[in-house]
Amino acid sequence: MTLKGLKQFVKKEDRRLKRNFPNLANREKMVLARTVKLSEEVGELAAEVLAYHNWQRPSKLINRQEPNLAHEFADVIITTMLIAEELGVDIELALIDKIKKIDKRYQDEK
Ligand SMILES: [Mg+2]
Repeated sequence: MTLKGLKQFVKKEDRRLKRNFPNLANREKMVLARTVKLSEEVGELAAEVLAYHNWQRPSKLINRQEPNLAHEFADVIITTMLIAEELGVDIELALIDKIKKIDKRYQDEK
């Protein structure tokens, strides 16, 4: 999948979520809800990383459903992009700009 394809999916998901959660029609509420959701998704990713390394309590590992490490990475990325979409941030431009800054940081170290 390309970044363009991912952005198209995020726009479609944005429309579906707005249709399914009319109680979040207020933009500020939507941004807040998605930011809380991102926190939830980061927590789920953290739990998968702990499980991947067997660093969870055995009781948690026993009740664990099928491993979902890749899906949790995807959830974090999609939820992040949904927040960016709601705030009008072009994530592609943001990534390009950030990558330039990171590369420059290392170039300056030489
Ligand atoms: Mg998740």
